[in-house]
This record gives sequence, C-alpha cells and structure tokens, in this order.
Amino acid sequence: MRTTRSEQLFDAARAFIPGGVNSPVRAFGKVGGQPLFVARAEGSHLWDADGNEYIDFVGSWGPMLIGHAHPAILEAVREALEHGTSFGAPTEREVTLAERLCRIVPSLEMVRLCNSGTEATMSALRLARAYTGREAFLKFRGGYHGHGDAFLVEAGSGAATLGVPNSPGVTEGSAKDTRVCDYNDLEAVEAHLASGEIAAVFVEPVAGNMGCVPPLPGFLEGLRAACDRTGTLLVFDEVMTGFRMTAGGAQQHFGVLPDLTTLGKVIGGGLPVGAFGGRREIMEMVAPAGPVYQAGTLSGNPLATAAGSAMPGWIEEHPELYTHLEALGVQPDEGFARIREAHGFPITWHRIGSMGSLFFGEGPIRDWPTVEATSADRFAAFFTGMLEEGFYLAPSPYEALFLSGAHTTEEIDRFLQAAERQLTRVHAEVTA
Ligand SMILES: *Cc1c(COP(=O)(O)O)cnc(C)c1O
Repeated sequence: MRTTRSEQLFDAARAFIPGGVNSPVRAFGKVGGQPLFVARAEGSHLWDADGNEYIDFVGSWGPMLIGHAHPAILEAVREALEHGTSFGAPTEREVTLAERLCRIVPSLEMVRLCNSGTEATMSALRLARAYTGREAFLKFRGGYHGHGDAFLVEAGSGAATLGVPNSPGVTEGSAKDTRVCDYNDLEAVEAHLASGEIAAVFVEPVAGNMGCVPPLPGFLEGLRAACDRTGTLLVFDEVMTGFRMTAGGAQQHFGVLPDLTTLGKVIGGGLPVGAFGGRREIMEMVAPAGPVYQAGTLSGNPLATAAGSAMPGWIEEHPELYTHLEALGVQPDEGFARIREAHGFPITWHRIGSMGSLFFGEGPIRDWPTVEATSADRFAAFFTGMLEEGFYLAPSPYEALFLSGAHTTEEIDRFLQAAERQLTRVHAEVTA
C-alpha cells in the first residue's frame, strides 16, 4: 500500500509526541483522516509534505492576518536575526511594539509582553484578582482563554473539540472559583456579579472558539455597565479579535472599553507573542512596578518583537487592509445566503470582519448550547470534501474560519463554488 509523506510523518510523530501533534485540534480527531504536515506557505496558499497545494482558511489559527511569509515580516525577522536571538535584557523593539499597541488599541495605557495567549490570560487573571482582592471570576461556556487551569472549565476550542471541556488534572481548588454563564446571557451575568465577589468577567468580545458567535446588540455594553456597578473588572480576551476585526480590535469596533485586554495571535505576526494590558492604575501593580509577579525568560524576544512590531506597523501604514477584508467577507455572506435559499440546506453562516463560521444547523446560534446542537458529522463530511477540493479549513466545527489580506475575490468565488458542491453532496447523503 502506498503511503503519503504526511502519513509517514504522522506515524513517526505519534511515537514521540502525544497524539502526534503539539496542540490537540491539529490532530483531525473531530473530522477523521489524518493531519496534513505542512511544508511551506505563502500568501493565502500552503503546501503539504506531499506537495499538494491548498487555499488556507486557518491562517495558523488566526495570526496570519496579512498572509503567510509576508515580505514585511520576513524582512524584519531577517534583520533581527543577524543581531542575536535572545538577550534577556530590554531592547528597543519591545518599546516600539508596546508603544504601537497602546496607540492602536483604544483601552491600552500600559502593556506587558509575554509569549502566548495562554500566558496573557493567566497573568491578567492573577492581576485582576490582586487588584480587586476577590478570587472568583466569570467566563462563558464555550469560551476559550488558553489552557490555564482555572480557564479549563467548560472551555471551547480544542477542549470542546475533544469533548473534554473540563480537563482531568485541574484540581477542585483551581476550578472552584470559576463561574460560568452562557454567552449572550446578560441576566445570568448580572445575577452572579450582584454578589460583589467576582474579580473579573473574561469574555471574547466576539466568541471565536465555539465557531464565530458575535455578541447580541447590547451584550458587551451590558457587561460593561454590570461590571461598573459591582466593582468587577471587564477583561476582553482579544487574542483572536485583536487587530483582526479592525486594528483596534473588537473594543474599537463596538466602542466598549474593557479594563484589561489580552492579545496574542496577530500581534506576533506568526512568532510567539502575547500581551496583556489596560488601565495604568491596574498595570502598575505588575512586578517590578508593583507586587503582582509575572515574568518570562523569552518575553520580549528579539525575533518575536521584530515580527510583532512589523505586523502592527504594516497595518498602520495599510488601513485599506480592512476594506479589502470586508469586501472578501461580503462574498460568503451573499454566497451562503444564496446557497441556503436555492437548496434549503439547514446551514447558518456567521461573519464579522475577517472571521466567520458555517454551522450545520438552522440557527439562531447565540451560545454554546445552540452551537453544540449543530451537526458535527455533517461538518466533518463537508470538511473532508473541501480538503479534497484544495481548501484547508480548521478541522473542527468549533473553530472559526479566517480571511487574510492575501486572499483574492477570485479565490473566495472558487471557495463558494466548491462549498456549494460539497454541501449538495453532504445533504444528499443525509437524506439518502
Ligand atoms: C488562541 C486563544 C487563546 C490562547 O492563545 P495561545 O497563544 O494558544 O496560548 C486565548 N484566548 C483566545 C480568545 C484565543 O483565541
């Protein structure tokens, strides 16, 4: 039997890496088959280890907002590389990146750089607890804030995909202060906050780790008001939405300002960068300015901050990026509406900015229970068909699809034609 290079690599990987992958959703567990091993990527395209070419809608799960191997990013990293890969001492690039982030993201007055979204949210939680002197915090069912223990309660993304929203190994102690509400359920949040015991509400201002679920009108404003009434900090986890919806993130788009913001993904331009920041008075509690400990050997790493400052720098100079992304986004809005109308398929398309999701259900979809009620099996069949047609989507029904500045209207047309074929096949199989 002939095996592909990807198959050989996956076999080898499984011998030495749990499940053969270094992050669970990559394993294709929810869609069947086996992961492609990627050899290289450029613009909106990627090539697997067997030389197959795909149009990519994963974008490294969010970071590649301006496309793979973008010259501006490559050039910045190349230049930094020549001068050494890590110093463990402050550098000019960290100042450039921090200044840029504070200039672009409306609520940021100060920011601390770290290495991942997970680190950013863990640190923001510690800070929120220290600032308020309260231990409990609130998150939303199906929301994902990285893999810190306290957040792995009814978590989205890989945890939802694997069906382990509550991970073994998380102690009762670290989970007992996590309160959970359904996304878009403002009344439930208000009831929790009334106790005056909640340090912070952690929210993805557009949910993106249970598929893309935008906030209902008034939800974010309501959270802001409820937090203000009860002395609770509002934390926007913009690891996914930061720089993606608009340069200033969801907070700029909706005009609702959080007390703290966490960032990651796009701000690293594909290198490991995370950040948390917010009001000066809160951030000045972070060590060594204040007593809340937070640190990192590689935080502010020269290669990461080179890519990290090149990314927002390029975006600041190219505001037309968002006009292009919006134009691309309107195509599937119209395309899926037409497909649904023409064939009567029970599908729901959500899109806001350059993130979207196709759900295999009638909708309306507004929270984790309504997401979970959609068909994961039909998604899997659709995913596999699209992959065969050369379109690489996130291998899970609970992940968003990302457009990048490198996609073209012609590629989105081809994507929609393939999607119509695959939806027709999937629904013919269901009714057969
Ligand atoms: C991806 C993501 C994280 C975790 O970031 P990592 O860099 O994977 O640790 C946290 N929050 C949100 C909203 C995310 O989308």
